[in-house]
Amino acid sequence: MFTIEYTTDKDFELRSKRPAAKTDDIIPVVQQVLDSVRNGGDRAVRELTMKFDNSCPDNLLVTEQELIDAEKEVPEDLKKAILTAKANIEKFHKSQIPTQIQKVPTSDGIICWQKTVGIEKVGIYIPGGSAPLFSTVLMLAIPAKLAGCKEIVLCSPPRSGGNINSVVLYCAKLLGVTKIFKIGGAQAIAAMAYGTETVPKVSKIFGPGNRFVTVAKQLVNSSNTAIDMPAGPSELAVVADCSTNAVYAAADLLSQCEHGTDSQVGLFVCDEDKKNEIIAEAERQLKLLPRREIAEKAFALSFAVVTENNQKSVQLSNLWAPEHLILSTDDALNLAELVTNAGSVFIGHYACESAGDYASGTNHTLPTNGAAKAYSGLNMDSFTKKITFQTISEEGIKTIGPAIETMAAAEQLDAHKNAVTVRLK
Ligand SMILES: [Zn+2]
Repeated sequence: MFTIEYTTDKDFELRSKRPAAKTDDIIPVVQQVLDSVRNGGDRAVRELTMKFDNSCPDNLLVTEQELIDAEKEVPEDLKKAILTAKANIEKFHKSQIPTQIQKVPTSDGIICWQKTVGIEKVGIYIPGGSAPLFSTVLMLAIPAKLAGCKEIVLCSPPRSGGNINSVVLYCAKLLGVTKIFKIGGAQAIAAMAYGTETVPKVSKIFGPGNRFVTVAKQLVNSSNTAIDMPAGPSELAVVADCSTNAVYAAADLLSQCEHGTDSQVGLFVCDEDKKNEIIAEAERQLKLLPRREIAEKAFALSFAVVTENNQKSVQLSNLWAPEHLILSTDDALNLAELVTNAGSVFIGHYACESAGDYASGTNHTLPTNGAAKAYSGLNMDSFTKKITFQTISEEGIKTIGPAIETMAAAEQLDAHKNAVTVRLK
């Protein structure tokens, strides 16, 4: 962990700048994958799977029997833990659903309202790899189901045995995912974006992935398929002072570092001694981690900045706009009021970021790479759209008609003006 000596805000922004991810080199390859799936459907998906993974399952669609078998493989204590998380995530996301439609009379004879409607067909991508991200199935499928999405498609690459990780399958079945496919990589994104003979075409695609998946999502996004948000390496900022427990803070920093070698963590601390204590403690804990090699690299690229007080720490954190922010101080609740840019905030000495990753109830799909300046994390809005409605009575058109006529005439849109005029006559 290196130290940024604070001089000015501008200088801090420059020094804490995240490394830019390079994707230009793989765009042509990904575009080719997208085109072949769009033209070749299932056959192309199979050919690409053979090409990239050296084998392709006979059946791309996961069968009912495979789901039953998967459930048997999941240990009981893990099932119980998943149900605990599910209950909290459901409770919090359910609370975001508007309970009442508000009909607003904007003028005499005119009533406007908006209605929230679930996106009919959504796709979820769950990466394979060393860590099976079944928690992401919860974070995506629960709000999708609550939003009333009718078709929830899930794609995940098959492991060497030919099937998807059994915990991922267990969660998918538990949460009402409608169809699960053994497809990974850019070809999975293409299959969901364009549809194939077996994979339904969806309107919005969610979920993390490697560079190829991320680029595929960006490319299909430019041709009519919505995506959740640009995904980058995971990030955490910790605000600490003399009241901070160094053991907790160090554990928090490392919990984020183990996500990947490109993970980013920042320590904002108003006390030089505490900074040294936390770093020393992190170096001690680092040696004990099974994922030490990954965490070590990320930790080496992370920064600490010593500030004049906690307010300044939060102010600098706002400039960095982290995905996760832990306020590990006695005055955390007051400091939280000052937060203007962050994906999700963890308040107080006991609020660890892992809680939000799994089970407290908030969503763990959050804006990275400074996107927290403009974007929210996933929530019920991500799975719904709002349709506006209006009724206009004879009285209503008499009330606003003249204003519309005048404005339309001023924009030289005579047909618009006329649509009002014929009614007023
Ligand atoms: Zn995490």
